[in-house]
Amino acid sequence: MQFDDKNSPKRPGGPESGPPRGARLSLIVFAGLLMASVALFLMDGTASLPSIPYSTFLAHLEEGNVDSVRIVDQRVIQGTLKGRAGDSQQFSTLIPYQDDGLLDDLAARGVKVEGAVADVSPLRLLAELFPWVFGFFLIWMIFRQMQGNNKAFSFGKSRAKRYQGSDTKITFADVAGQKEAKYELLEVVDYLKNPQKFVKMGARIPKGVLLVGMPGTGKTLLAKAVAGEAGVPFFHMSGSDFVEMFVGVGASRVRDLFEQGRKSAPCILFIDELDAVGRTRGAGYGGGHDEREQTLNQMLVEMDGFDTKDGVIILAATNRPDVLDPALLRPGRFDRQVIVAMPDIQEREDILKIHMAKVPTAADVDAQRLARATPGMSGADLANMVNEATLFAVRRGLESVEMLDFEEARDKILMGIARTSLVISEEEKKATAYHEAGHALLHYYLQHADPLHKVTIVPRGRALGLAFSLPERDSYSKVRGWIRDRIVIAYGGYAAETIVYGETTTGTAQDLRQATDLARKMACEWGMAEELGPVAYGQEEEPIFIGKEIARHKDYSEDTAMRIDRAVVGILNEAKKKAFDVLTEHRDQLVSLAEELIRKETLLDDDIKALFGFKDPEAAQA
Ligand code: ADP
Ligand code: MG
Ligand code: ZN
Repeated sequence: MQFDDKNSPKRPGGPESGPPRGARLSLIVFAGLLMASVALFLMDGTASLPSIPYSTFLAHLEEGNVDSVRIVDQRVIQGTLKGRAGDSQQFSTLIPYQDDGLLDDLAARGVKVEGAVADVSPLRLLAELFPWVFGFFLIWMIFRQMQGNNKAFSFGKSRAKRYQGSDTKITFADVAGQKEAKYELLEVVDYLKNPQKFVKMGARIPKGVLLVGMPGTGKTLLAKAVAGEAGVPFFHMSGSDFVEMFVGVGASRVRDLFEQGRKSAPCILFIDELDAVGRTRGAGYGGGHDEREQTLNQMLVEMDGFDTKDGVIILAATNRPDVLDPALLRPGRFDRQVIVAMPDIQEREDILKIHMAKVPTAADVDAQRLARATPGMSGADLANMVNEATLFAVRRGLESVEMLDFEEARDKILMGIARTSLVISEEEKKATAYHEAGHALLHYYLQHADPLHKVTIVPRGRALGLAFSLPERDSYSKVRGWIRDRIVIAYGGYAAETIVYGETTTGTAQDLRQATDLARKMACEWGMAEELGPVAYGQEEEPIFIGKEIARHKDYSEDTAMRIDRAVVGILNEAKKKAFDVLTEHRDQLVSLAEELIRKETLLDDDIKALFGFKDPEAAQA
């Protein structure tokens, strides 16, 4: 089963159903008011006295039947008759004309006379106001209908879904793999559990943590797990929820969300799909102050405006960190990024096991084999696959889900993925493994190279694989040997593909660009090419308005240009030769490293050292 707040049925204690309940309440209040005012109207004194013609009143007066009168506004006479019982004792009559003799007549008959003004009781007022109130209410209802979502008067509210930490019961145990992300988030959990401890020590806790990863890698799941682990409330809002067609609504929703957060601290505010609001400002058409920019500005203001001491942590998720406004990533805002990676083969197996545990599976189901057969699938794809398999099994009338169902589900989902983007064929996977193994192995045979951190053939963004190193030195002052080795490593993929296949793929484009850039800088900026001498060639310019690309002013002769080109090609050829030499010499290791990569998909420095018996960097380097 998938935990997906869009599809899951309402659980008790899940998102609160606010607006509908409010509407019902106001309807009840309204009906009560209606009845009360009708009753008041009927009870109203003037209306309830039996009315008699003026002539009858005069006749009563003549006969001496009138005991007392009350003249209201010189228009109405309310009176009491002598010697009668009950209702007929009271009467009221309208004075049809200005009768000057009336008072004398009344006095002559010994009638008690009292003057009065019309009774403006609050009740009466209510009864008269009622039709107006009713009218406004009707208009409001119509407006709500037109909105179609019961939210006419809550535009500015945040609409965040609130989960109590204990309701979701999602913990880190529900998230397979993602060891690094969990490790980073553990600090946040510790802090939320006991903010005082951290505040006392003066520790600075990140205000905002940005989860970065491709769709379906479990970013939302991780955020929920943080709330579940810490046992604090969790406000979930998607970036697109802030964006409405009315200007100012988004900003006011941001304000409201942070307000809610402050009230419920310690808690987590989770903004999913941050890129919907957080895109670089001024990038859209029409420029200036559009609604989204206003919303983003408000978010920046709110993030600056509170302290981590308040116990509110802001998590956000995005799969497009590249389009985010740089202001969002500055210290004091989302100053920590957590990479949520695509699962490797072992992680896929773990994810499958988590989701398989929720359905009855037959004995022949082999999670490991399925993990091997699902390269390129995200956690969401795998969860979906288990669900599809269950549906197949139900359709076949089975009691438990069999391997066959899983295989069918996999094919169905792979077809879906193939249509959208990345599906990796066995052949591609193998080529990527050799390519990355080439980069990785060079780290162990070059004197000045940074130690390798890990190598993976799990795709990230557009790259099919990656070999990461851990820089040991400050990256701004590189010594020449380090840069030369960096260029050699860039040729590792190219060399490995050539050695094994005799030709190269388009996967080398990025590497060649990187190598060329470095070589050109060595020659033109850093004076590292002997034949050119310690001269900086070309003036650098950073045009502010044109873009981020650096334009280079040519301030040297054609002859010098040719010498520069020759020097650059020289550096590159030398590096390429070195890469070929090392990898040819250790071809057997290249092959076994690639094969291990195909099996495991991700290898850490320690795994590789164990594989080849390398002791530590120095010992391994020839
Ligand atoms: P994202 O927010 O990164 O797009 P989600 O968190 O919405 O991805 O993941 C969608 C679903 O995929 C989750 O609800 C869960 O069922 C499944 N899933 C993704 N990653 C994992 C994982 N590491 N472990 C277990 N399930 C996962
Ligand atoms: Mg998500
Ligand atoms: Zn490469």
